[in-house]
Amino acid sequence: GPMGDGQSLHDSSSLQIFIKAKKKINDIFVEIEDYVLDSVTYVQSLQRERSIVNSDDAAKVESYIAKAKGIRDVLTRNHMKVAFFGRTSNGKSTVINAMLHDKILPSGIGHTTHCFLQVEGSESGESYLVTEDSTEKQNVKSIGQLAHALCKEKLGENQLVHIYWPKDKCVLLRDDVVFVDSPGIDVSPNLDEWIDRYCQDADVFVLVANAESTLMLTEKNFFHKVSTRLSKPNIFILNNRWDASATEPEFLDQVRAQHMERAVDFLVKELKVCTQKEAHERIFFVSAREALQARLQEQKGLPAHSENKTITHPYSGGLADGFHNRYFEFQDFERKFEDCISKSAVRTKFQQHSQQGKLIVADVRTVMDRTYDRAQQLRTEKAESKKELHEKLNFTEQQLLLLTQEMKDKIRQMVEDVEQKVSKALSE
Ligand code: GDP
Repeated sequence: GPMGDGQSLHDSSSLQIFIKAKKKINDIFVEIEDYVLDSVTYVQSLQRERSIVNSDDAAKVESYIAKAKGIRDVLTRNHMKVAFFGRTSNGKSTVINAMLHDKILPSGIGHTTHCFLQVEGSESGESYLVTEDSTEKQNVKSIGQLAHALCKEKLGENQLVHIYWPKDKCVLLRDDVVFVDSPGIDVSPNLDEWIDRYCQDADVFVLVANAESTLMLTEKNFFHKVSTRLSKPNIFILNNRWDASATEPEFLDQVRAQHMERAVDFLVKELKVCTQKEAHERIFFVSAREALQARLQEQKGLPAHSENKTITHPYSGGLADGFHNRYFEFQDFERKFEDCISKSAVRTKFQQHSQQGKLIVADVRTVMDRTYDRAQQLRTEKAESKKELHEKLNFTEQQLLLLTQEMKDKIRQMVEDVEQKVSKALSE
């Protein structure tokens, strides 16, 4: 069935790499937080009773409570982000809708996206939007309402509107993918600002190009800017409206080869963001409109390719020739996209945090080592100055030594434990 497909795809989806890594690293930080809390309690108890831990060390260990918690907060908010760019009317909104299996974003004449729209999963299961300078949740039940809400807001092209959509309606949203639709790059003079505000943390960029024309200079320039600011951005190129090629089948292969060659050159030679081989896995010829139609059909339990009269096509009246190939290519794009975004997000979003986790643990251990040394030093000093009392060596001092030794062992174990988990998580 239509939902069944999504379900079975879901289990084997490479998006799960990100979801699992996120859960694992979060669990590790829960443990780190526990250990830090234990250490703080211990250090505080020592400080009250004797001056074995200096106040700098104590403060340092204490500061790690907030730090570990802060990292956990950032981790839970992390998601995979894909940003769509292209000239107006190339089909950005339609591509996003097709990937979401639903008409969520308004598209078509009169619905040009004037601002940035970020679509993400809603925890509560409600659908609503929130504009940048307000915390008010505006309910949106339908695409019509959404379009209306977006119109009445008088939004500037640099503004961001968050659209929250029920997670149970779309696998990609449930799996932590966030979609960003942008105003057409042909209409904006503020490309630099866009990149700084919306692209720094994007894992994947999708250029939605028009297969009926060649790549425009404005489209190329934008990605030149992106690649100077981000190191080796992941860029996919969708040659959309490929259904138009059905009207001229005799030129199909030739046109495709030409588009392919230019797009490969752009990624490999101009932007230098990938190899020739990789580029061929990043460039697709699709029809977002057909893909969306097919998915709406599937949602209703109808076959994707039925000769349905409600599918009006500007070129043939029905579905254009080659629909199956284009739909297959769209799905192929989605698979490669999922693989890419998940791996990229794991690398960029977790690696730095796991380094920080290691640092925290190692630092706490250093403090514990120092505490142990100082306790031992104190013991020797006392023993020397009071040789005659040697036999009656203070019982609590021995206790203290035992306690520090115990803590030291615990910390050592914790370091090994955490290191093992982090490197396991990273290597998976
Ligand atoms: P955007 O401005 O880039 O977001 O473009 P839209 O998604 O709003 O699409 C503009 C128009 O092009 C709409 O009327 C879509 O139905 C149509 N469109 C989008 N993708 C395709 C496609 O693959 N083939 C055809 N024939 N039309 C498309």
